[in-house]
Amino acid sequence: MGIGKDMKIPYARQWISESDIAEVVRVLRSDWITQGPTIDKFEKAVADYCGAGYAVALSSGTAALHAVCFAAGITKGDEVIIPALTFVASSNCVLYQQGRPVFCDIQTGTHNIDPDKIERHISKRTKGIITVDFAGHPCDYDEIFKLAGRYNLWVIEDACHSLGASYKKKRIGSFSDMTVFSFHPAKAITTGEGGMVLTNNKALYERLKLFRNHGITKDRDAFLRKADGAWYYEMQELGYNYRITDIQCGLGIAQMRSLDRFINLRREIVQRYNKAFGEMADIIQLPLEKRCAISAWHLYVVRLKDKSLVDNKRGIFDYLRKKGIGANLHYIPVPMHPYYRRRFNYRAEQYPEAGRYYKEAVTLPLFPRMKGKEVNQVIKVFKQAIQRFKK
Ligand SMILES: *Cc1c(COP(=O)(O)O)cnc(C)c1O
Repeated sequence: MGIGKDMKIPYARQWISESDIAEVVRVLRSDWITQGPTIDKFEKAVADYCGAGYAVALSSGTAALHAVCFAAGITKGDEVIIPALTFVASSNCVLYQQGRPVFCDIQTGTHNIDPDKIERHISKRTKGIITVDFAGHPCDYDEIFKLAGRYNLWVIEDACHSLGASYKKKRIGSFSDMTVFSFHPAKAITTGEGGMVLTNNKALYERLKLFRNHGITKDRDAFLRKADGAWYYEMQELGYNYRITDIQCGLGIAQMRSLDRFINLRREIVQRYNKAFGEMADIIQLPLEKRCAISAWHLYVVRLKDKSLVDNKRGIFDYLRKKGIGANLHYIPVPMHPYYRRRFNYRAEQYPEAGRYYKEAVTLPLFPRMKGKEVNQVIKVFKQAIQRFKK
């Protein structure tokens, strides 16, 4: 998942300040560069910000998703419902645990999982729903929790786009059974690579911690129960090395101080785009923010709504790229990937909205450090591209 660094204006880009660097250097000079106190501090900073009881930081968002499927007890043959439109990691995590991803189509407006289409996918084997707050916009959680309650399903939130967003005045990370963040450089804040799980459930928290470190515990009680000696530790589950370092968490702590400012800057750019593209509202669909939600504005996605534009999406893309604008596509619907088609015989036609999205969507550059000049350049070139291909 490159972020288009070869482009003059990439679609996403991190923002590392001198004080962020100073924080990392401080960790490097300390006694602990991994498995030390800076990890706890970063976990606490994110948990407090989001209003969650527990946090576990891991080596990536993908590792966090894997850990979540383990903690939820997903095992061979279990089904998990996932939106057809997401990054492959949202559903690969189910496969890692020998579960079966069951894809659900999306809504037109937010491009999130369509709550009206979830129930038809629920079977006796369904264990949970993995929601994705696409582009930073929260899903319709009232409806999702109603279904989850009725069928006794986990609600696992892939919130890799939505750190800092809110649903009905509740922060993302405060209400789902488990919420996953990524700190890849394209995301709201970065630790280079990194991820985190938030939960309010102590038992899940313990399982997540176990999974992060080979399934090994050095738990006091286990110590006392065994008379072996002070060296004692035991492996209780098959876990992995999914640890994050204190060095990364130093960067994370410093980045958290900028999170609100980053989101506000994203929002200002979105407002400028929306204003500039408003005149084309009949031929392109602009992103929306529902009244019940505050988006984290991870991505700015427009959809081409005119046939001549849709037919020429490649031309529009090539034009933008040639002019140095790192246009992108988020994402190829997961069931369209050869691996998924081959293995599960998924057909794209089963997810018509996701399919339409794939034909129409274009992601334009959006990151907090974008200069006014760069925003204007994107606006100018995108308008040129539309004029060029509109018949
Ligand atoms: C970025 C992302 C991930 C994966 O996170 P990594 O930290 O890159 O492993 C998973 N799901 C979604 C929706 C993402 O955007």
